[in-house]
Amino acid sequence: MKIGGLEKLSLIDYPGNLSAIVFTTACNFRCHFCYNPMLVWPLEELGGIEYKNKGFSPILEEDLFLFLRSRVGKLDGVVITGGEPTMHSDLPKFIQKIRELGFKIKLDTNGTNPKMLREMINDNLIDYLAMDLKAPLDKYQSVVGVAVDCQKLLESVKIVVTSGLPHEFRTTVTPGLLELDDFFEMGKIIQGADAWYLQKFKSDTDLVDPKFQGKKAFSIQEMEKMAQIGSEFVKLCQLR
Ligand code: SF4
Repeated sequence: MKIGGLEKLSLIDYPGNLSAIVFTTACNFRCHFCYNPMLVWPLEELGGIEYKNKGFSPILEEDLFLFLRSRVGKLDGVVITGGEPTMHSDLPKFIQKIRELGFKIKLDTNGTNPKMLREMINDNLIDYLAMDLKAPLDKYQSVVGVAVDCQKLLESVKIVVTSGLPHEFRTTVTPGLLELDDFFEMGKIIQGADAWYLQKFKSDTDLVDPKFQGKKAFSIQEMEKMAQIGSEFVKLCQLR
């Protein structure tokens, strides 16, 4: 597994659990608002780019497992995020190795690999699922910056909602990309889901699309209106 970074302790990323966060490298989306550009491009393509927030240091898989073994009994779980973890064909094997140490697994995904998602759920490799819902389907491509197979996304949504596992969807609410009415269409897509979190857009950092740096985020009041619409479709819709 290509690991772009490790956060050794998080109290919030895996609801109700103390966790470590493993960041896999590379992503098949180019979301304009993404604040982890150093993870999005494969390391070998990054040459020359200097990011201000170099918070990530790549780590070898063997060193990660040394660390995890030292945390058995101290941490509850491991969050696997990216980048997009399901781009890596060895992800199921990697997760299996972590589970053998007794950790629960939360997986973050953009939903582009429903086949792997289904197989990992069937193989009992996942305890908590978090999927991004970037936009209504007709805006997806303009938000994620690449062509998208919407059927695959819908398939992943269905897998997540019917998985029987605790789950959440997340949307980064970015001005210029989303507007209030979009939340009706997005709500319909994930109808019946456990939770939908609306995340504030951060612009004071490196972004995948530098044109979005410095853009003003929606106000809390505007986001609360979006969450109100979201609440009509899912069990819980909150700002994060
Ligand atoms: S925000 Fe978009 S570009 Fe960034 S890691 Fe997630 S899916 Fe990839």
